[in-house]
Amino acid sequence: MLKVVAIDGPSGAGKSTVARALATRLGWSYIDTGAMYRSVGLKADRLGVALDDDQALAGLCADTRIDLVPDPSGGVQVLLDGEDVSAAIREHRVSDLASRVSARRPVRDAMGRYQRQLGERRPAVLEGRDVGTVVFPDAAVKIFLTATAEERARRRTAELNRRGQPAAAAAVLADICARDRQDSTREHAPLRRADDAVAVDTTGLDIDGVVQRLIEIVENVVGRAKNG
Ligand code: C5P
Repeated sequence: MLKVVAIDGPSGAGKSTVARALATRLGWSYIDTGAMYRSVGLKADRLGVALDDDQALAGLCADTRIDLVPDPSGGVQVLLDGEDVSAAIREHRVSDLASRVSARRPVRDAMGRYQRQLGERRPAVLEGRDVGTVVFPDAAVKIFLTATAEERARRRTAELNRRGQPAAAAAVLADICARDRQDSTREHAPLRRADDAVAVDTTGLDIDGVVQRLIEIVENVVGRAKNG
């Protein structure tokens, strides 16, 4: 059995918090696939590569190294060609860059291959948009996390404020809705729930409760595989 937990869903559904806590509890790697698309978007922007130039983006991906280095708090430090871009990729404008490059085929192919390698090397919890549908259709457990757009906007606004990047809640909501549209209507690997994913709506839920529920699901599956 492939020891991979795939957690997909729209931005702000709580994927990072849940995936990180779950990985820590299981002792598995935590892989933030969004950080990879954010890094590619950031690099393309810095180099002035057009975000729809597939040939240039393919070259850029082939020539890019992204490392996710676990930090003691259970998070990851993101290294782009050796440079720590953990803070830079969280800037508001990088969300849009990521969403745009992630719609391009060569970028998806390159990042998907890399994610597959990482997940095959060690047991891992991966969070993203297409982990359960495209990258790991054979994942042991698939979760699709959602929350209402209003709740996701509230969480994202609070997070930006915490980071000292104040944003108006209405603008964040509009942004989230635009990204949802872009992510779920794109041609390649659109955001959708895998048929065999467990759907969890986190609106109004306490994250610890969600993590506990997911741990039970994973332990059940892993235990069954061991016994069978
Ligand atoms: O998860 P996060 O918000 O950091 O992802 C940034 C953007 O990268 C998303 O809006 C989405 O467009 C893209 N993405 C993706 N596939 C993934 C992870 C992220 O297309 N597996």
